[in-house]
Parts: sequence; C-alpha cells; structure tokens
Amino acid sequence: MDYLEGLNPPQREAVEHTDGPVMIIAGAGSGKTRVLTYRIAHLIYSKNVDPFSILSLTFTNKAAAEMRHRIESLVGLDARNTWMGTFHSVFAKILRVEAEKIGYPSNFTIYDADDSKSLIRTIVKEMRLDDKVYKANAVLSRISGAKNRLITWKAYQDDPYVKADDEAAMKPKMGEIYQRYQDRLFKAGAMDFDDLLFNTNVLFRDHLDVLNKYQQRFRYVMVDEFQDTNLSQYLITKKLAAVHQNICVVGDDAQSIYAFRGADIQNILNFEKDYPDLFVVKLEQNYRSTKNIVEAANSIIDKNKAQLKKLVWTSNDDGDLIELVKASSDNEEGKIVAQTIFEEKNTKKLSNSDFAILYRTNSQSRAIEEALRKLNLTYKIVGGLSFYQRKEIKDLMAYMRFTVNPSDEEAFKRIVNYPKRGIGNTSVDKLLIAAFDHDMPLWEVVQNSHSFLGGRAASQLADFATMIQAFQIEVERKDAFEAANSIAKQSGLLRELYEDKTIEGLNRYENVQELLNAIKEYVDNEENEDKSLGAFLQEIALLTDNDRDKDTTDAITLMTIHSSKGLEFKQVFVVGMEEDLFPSQMMMQSREDLEEERRLFYVATTRAMDKLYFSYALTRYRYGRLLNCEPSRFLEEVNPDCIKVNKKVAAKDMPGAFRREGLPGSSESTGFIGIKKKPASRMPTQMKVHTPSPDFKPSNTNNLQAEQLVEHPKFGFGKVQKIETEGLNRKATIQFEHFGEKTLLLSFAKLRII
Ligand code: ATP
Ligand code: MG
Repeated sequence: MDYLEGLNPPQREAVEHTDGPVMIIAGAGSGKTRVLTYRIAHLIYSKNVDPFSILSLTFTNKAAAEMRHRIESLVGLDARNTWMGTFHSVFAKILRVEAEKIGYPSNFTIYDADDSKSLIRTIVKEMRLDDKVYKANAVLSRISGAKNRLITWKAYQDDPYVKADDEAAMKPKMGEIYQRYQDRLFKAGAMDFDDLLFNTNVLFRDHLDVLNKYQQRFRYVMVDEFQDTNLSQYLITKKLAAVHQNICVVGDDAQSIYAFRGADIQNILNFEKDYPDLFVVKLEQNYRSTKNIVEAANSIIDKNKAQLKKLVWTSNDDGDLIELVKASSDNEEGKIVAQTIFEEKNTKKLSNSDFAILYRTNSQSRAIEEALRKLNLTYKIVGGLSFYQRKEIKDLMAYMRFTVNPSDEEAFKRIVNYPKRGIGNTSVDKLLIAAFDHDMPLWEVVQNSHSFLGGRAASQLADFATMIQAFQIEVERKDAFEAANSIAKQSGLLRELYEDKTIEGLNRYENVQELLNAIKEYVDNEENEDKSLGAFLQEIALLTDNDRDKDTTDAITLMTIHSSKGLEFKQVFVVGMEEDLFPSQMMMQSREDLEEERRLFYVATTRAMDKLYFSYALTRYRYGRLLNCEPSRFLEEVNPDCIKVNKKVAAKDMPGAFRREGLPGSSESTGFIGIKKKPASRMPTQMKVHTPSPDFKPSNTNNLQAEQLVEHPKFGFGKVQKIETEGLNRKATIQFEHFGEKTLLLSFAKLRII
C-alpha cells in the first residue's frame, strides 16, 4: 500500500500494530497525529474495519475535521463514518441519546462558562456570602477540579481534607455551593462542560447495558494529546476499551499544559500499569521544524526536572536563527511584528496563513491588531471574544435554548425582558423565589405567572409564555433554520436591532443574520442527520474556541499558546516574552507552576516550521497602567547558538532598541487595580435548607386552617397563621421555625399536615 510509504519505520510499526493497547509518547512534530490519521485509514482500508466502530478523540473539533479530511484523501468517503471529535462533543452526543437514564431530558442545555458563573453568583448571593471571597471564577474552577476528579458534592462535603483546605482558604461554604450548583443545573435541565464527562462516567457506572453497548460499538479507540486528559476522561476511555483493549494513545509529556484544569500526567504512567502488554512506540525524528528550532526547543525543555527524557532530532536544514526582537513598548512590538510579516510575505511569497502570532493571554492582541490593520494585513483571532460570545448572538441563542428547554434558568433571565416588555427584575426575582419555594419547575411558574405576580407584569409574562409555546410548536414542526428565523422575528429581537441605526447596531443586526446563515448551512449540510434546532444548539455549545472561526479567508492567525497545541505554521512570533507576563505571574506559586509555564514555552517554540521570532517590550500597558518590563527568564534558557538579535527593523525610530545588553528598566510591582464588578443579579436570599422527614408526603390542603402545624420540604416546621383567598388562589401565611414568615400558594405548596 503506497500510503504507508509516507511513514518512517517506527511510525509504520505503530500504524500496523492495530490490535491491543499501544502508546506513543514522543516529542513535538514527530508525527504522532499523523500516525493516528494513518492508523484509522489503515484500519478501514487494509483491515476492513467498519468506520462506525472507530472512535478518535481529539483536542479540538477542528483537529477532528482536519483528520477526517486527511483520512478521506487516503481512503475516500468511508472516513466520514468514523466517530471523531473532542471528548465533550462525542460524549454529549451519547448523553443526548441516553440522558433519560440518568434523569436528564434528552434536550438538556449545555451551560457555557458565562452561564455557570452567572449561576454561581446567584447562589452566592442567595446564601448571603461575600462575593469578594467567593469569586465566581475561583468557585467554578474549584468545582470543576472536583468534578474532573469525579468527586461528587457529597464526597466533597464528607472529605475532611477538602474541608480543611476550604477552611484554610476562608471558604468553608464551598461544599454547599457545589451542592446547590448541581441541584440548580439539574433542575434547569442543564449540564456544564465538566458534567458532560462526569455524567458519562455516571452513565457507564450505573448502566452496564449502556456501557456494554458502546464497548461493542467502539472496537477501536484512539486518543490524541493524551497528556492533557483528566481523570474523568481517562476513566471513560478505559471503560470503553475494556472489552476489546484496542486502544491507542499518543501524546507528549513535555506538552502537558492543562494541569490547571485537572489534566494529569499521571495518566501516562497509569496507562502502563493498566495494560501490562502495552506496545510502546518511540518516535524521535521531527519532521516539522528546522534544526535550529528543534535544538532551541530541546534546550528549553531540558531545564524541566519532571520530564521523561526523550531524544528529538531532525534531518531538516539548519534554517535561520531564531530572531530576538526588543521593542520599546507594546505598540512598537506590534509594529515590528506587522512590518516583519509584511516584508517576509513579499520577499518569500508567503500567504497570510503561513504566519501565527502567539501570546500568553488574549488581552495582548490589541496592540498587534492595530499594527496589522495599519498595514492592511488580514488576520483572525482564534479564541477571545468570538462570534458566539457576542451579546446579540447569545440573546438569540438564549431564545432558542429556552424554547427547546424551558427549564433553562440562565436563558430565561437573559430574554424575559429583552426586548423590553415591562417585566422588571423584581418580577423576575419573585418568579425565581416562587419556583424555589414551591419546588416547581421554572416553566410551570412562568405559565402560571398570574398566581405569583400582579397587574401588568403578569399579563406581560402570560404573553411571553404564549410566545414561547408558539415557538415550541414551530420547533417541533420545522427544521432548525425555519424555526430560528421565526424566533428571531417573532421575539422582536431582529426589529430591536434593526431599529438601532448606529454602526454598532447595524453590525449586531448583521451578526444575527450571520447566525441565521450558519443555521441554514447546518441544515443544508448532508452530514447532519438531525436537523432540529436542539441538535444545532448542541453542536454550537460544543464548539471549542479553536473551532469558532468560520472564516476561510487567507489570514494571519492570532491566538494564545494554549490554543496553538497540535498546530504548525511556517513562521511563528511568540510575543510578550517578559517576566510576569510569560512566565505569568498568576502561575508562579511553585516549581510545578514554573515547569508548566516552561512546557507552554516549549509548545510555542515547536509550532514553527521555518522561522521563529521571540519578542519583548520594555514598557507595556497592563491593568490600565504603563509598566516597565524585564525580558523573560525563558529567553536566557534558550541555547544562545540558536538565536540572533534582530537588527532589521526601524532602528531610526528606536535608537539602540535591538541591543541585547544593557536593558533599562526594572519590573515594577504590578499594583492590581481590580476590575469593576458587575452587580450580581438580584435574587432571593435563603438560609440553610431543611431536610424533609423520611416519610414526608404532601397532604391535601383543601381544609387547611390557621393554627395547624405543617412541614414544608425546604422550610421545615411551621404554624399556619392565616388562610386567605385572592381570586382563585388560596394562600397560607405560615410562621416557620427557622425561616420566618412566608406566604405560599396552596395549589403549589407541598405541605405535610402534622
Ligand atoms: P505535536 O506534538 O505538535 O502535536 P505531532 O507529533 O502530532 O506534533 P504531526 O503534526 O503529526 O506531529 O507531524 C508534524 C509534521 O511532520 C506534519 O506536517 C506531518 O505531516 C509531518 N510528518 C510527520 N511524519 C512524517 C513523515 N514520516 N514523512 C513526512 N512528513 C512527516
Ligand atoms: Mg499532534
């Protein structure tokens, strides 16, 4: 077979060793991903394996699409039928089929990080906790860490070590927040990203028939970027492969850069223990980069202690030395980078897409973008505030989400009064309180709003509910595009944007049109079997930052180093090589942190094929202040034989700007100016919830009278003060032992008469 000729002997061995467990841990650019691709082609082409029984897990959906494309060019259209995607997207698809087994609706919503944080803010407010102590970001990452290690809220609360940890961090309520957060997600019929993996584990643990079905289906399992899997992902693959044991993982411990999200390098070591007859392949030849770049990368990673020693060499040319660029300011840095790209493009006849500019944090893109725009260079930002994170897009998506899943509280909050329909925050709060007090689904409360709200708000809300019901009927009868189109129109959203004649307004209108185009494309695409709005929403919720750019024009890529994993470009600029920025001051708590930052530097360096640039600025605006910066310690660690100082650029503008020695300026302590916080959404306050008696059963309250004693599942024991009737509603005012006085609607309240 000629396609095997595109592989060196160890790569070929890995491709041909199709049965039994295989692990390839090898350096960057050594063809790991290529091996996976060829392996799939080989299984289909030479081993006649049904493409439906091959599962490959990649780091981004884009990587999966590229892989599929390459396999298609090797074996033809059969490649389409393999299961390929990120862990999240593959298992979300499976959960959609099996959700009801674990108590979720099959149209469950997937909360993005914004939704999750908003929910956490609500909970922190409800619990009357200090939102400066319990910051949404930190709380979410703590919960996420627990979930990725498969620690339930119950196990979290019961673990004395975790408790001690939280107490030491002055956050003793963490376990309770975790519990409430899960409870609210569940009630909203929603899962956050971590739940997709967590719940897959629950599904496979509790439903062996389901596990068995997928074990039989996926005869071959492959994982790219294995070094960045967390425990939750590890266990899923382990379970799936348990019957056939045809599992192949590839990765590079030197590129493990997601420890902060729970990725565990231990998985590589465990893998050897889990599969005693493991076939291990070493790949040492780098095909991607010049000798200078490979040498520089080796010298960087050598400084890390915790590393499996690997040899990486290349037979490629020496290539140019790495250029070190020193700029007087961040703006100057942008200018130099833009100017260099402009010249290189012209002299070497390169395209925009041959260039990438990599940075440690998204905010660094601004100065670079300005400079690129001045030279009319087309660029795209991968990650950052992407299309799907824009307000108008999230608004329309929230309408669609709420239509498909009317328990989705975060979507509800977004749209109930947008466009304005006279339903103020107070009314919204009342509804949420009512849902909580009566333990009723939000949608039921919304449909019965007249019971909870008076006057105009109630009738407005009734109209809102009628509108959503109409949407639901459309969603059932029509495809995603037709349904979305009428939601955009009937909700008043399009009109609202259309009437705003400012440039921004026009932009927003066009963005919404663009979203509708995307839905049309989705519906027209034959590969998508399920053309319902629910299926489209799921697809979008699962796009990772890297996948979100739809743009296919020839553009320079701007992205964080984290998102650049697995990719390659002819020329790469690593900008902002300064102390406190890279290595990041946020990640400098320990030796492990520093090593993770160094691995990130290794990832950045190894993205370049032909030419690499490192740049730093002597001053930079950060946190709204002009700071002096020092060159990164990492620059000192690169083998000096591989680097030269860039002398080419506009020296007249900055005398002495390209000398390496005698750097003026010292790093100033970065006084952090806190970002002004948005006020947390207004929500009811509650105290610790009562645990109902084991034999709790609601009583018939038709004859309930004052002075009677009752138990409520949340508020505990209380005494009825009075009964009133207002319209059709009977209300009871009850004095609860620990929760004070509450007025509950008897048609909804679950009360046990004692
Ligand atoms: P990373 O660690 O960055 O993910 P990798 O190990 O996955 O890298 P690949 O992306 O698979 O490496 O390969 C790097 C480059 O080298 C690609 O352009 C690939 O096509 C090329 N390559 C790999 N092996 C060979 C080979 N045997 N012959 C020719 N080119 C190869
Ligand atoms: Mg790869």
